[in-house]
Amino acid sequence: QYSPDCVRGADGAVDPTEVTFPGCPCRARSCSPHSCPCARRGAAPLFECNAMCRCSDGCGKRVVQRGLRVRLQVFLTDKKGWGVRALQPIAEGTFVCEYAGEVLGLDEARRRVRAQTAQDNNYIIAVREHVHGGQVLETFVDPTYVGNVGRFLNHSCEPNLVMVPVRVDSMVPKLALFAAADISAGEELCYDYSGRFRNLPPNEGEQKAAEEDNVLRKPCFCGSPTCAAFLPWDGSLFPSA
Ligand SMILES: [Zn+2]
Ligand SMILES: [Zn+2]
Ligand SMILES: [Zn+2]
Repeated sequence: QYSPDCVRGADGAVDPTEVTFPGCPCRARSCSPHSCPCARRGAAPLFECNAMCRCSDGCGKRVVQRGLRVRLQVFLTDKKGWGVRALQPIAEGTFVCEYAGEVLGLDEARRRVRAQTAQDNNYIIAVREHVHGGQVLETFVDPTYVGNVGRFLNHSCEPNLVMVPVRVDSMVPKLALFAAADISAGEELCYDYSGRFRNLPPNEGEQKAAEEDNVLRKPCFCGSPTCAAFLPWDGSLFPSA
């Protein structure tokens, strides 16, 4: 089932369509980063204006919500199954697409991952954001049953897309993929499945040991010089051995 936007997961734990941010009173065509309360909610994590805001649709703080604006194509790769490539050049920093799917609570995300067999592809992505005061915000998005073009993107250890959680209506983020470099037409698009992004420290090393002997791990065919040989693995979704 295709959906350009995230939907509430079957467990009903998180509703990404609910609007809880109050919106700004700015009457300007485009909000100013200095006076707009939406902009001042914080730079990282990123926030956009929403339907409650009085600014125009052309406001500079409305990017991810406009959806896919570049031409992409799903194609069959040599070793990696389906992939996505650009049909046009994409400049660094451009919003490319969202990773849309069911937004799940932790329990349901764990349940689904445990139900997977070695043949199943895991599309569930776990994004962890470290916010002030040591708090960690976790978001789980599963495009297995409902999703968009994002689920066809392959992993690369040297990706040309970077995933950034962007908030529009509520604290439930949209997982937005931006070009991490200038991308030429015909180039395959990929991102780092581990959900790491530039403003976060890399995953804790303690997970490594348990990772090594896990039979469900899948080889990585990204072909980059820094390839880790296996696809990233999120130990938190599995029962500890
Ligand atoms: Zn605005
Ligand atoms: Zn505003
Ligand atoms: Zn606003």
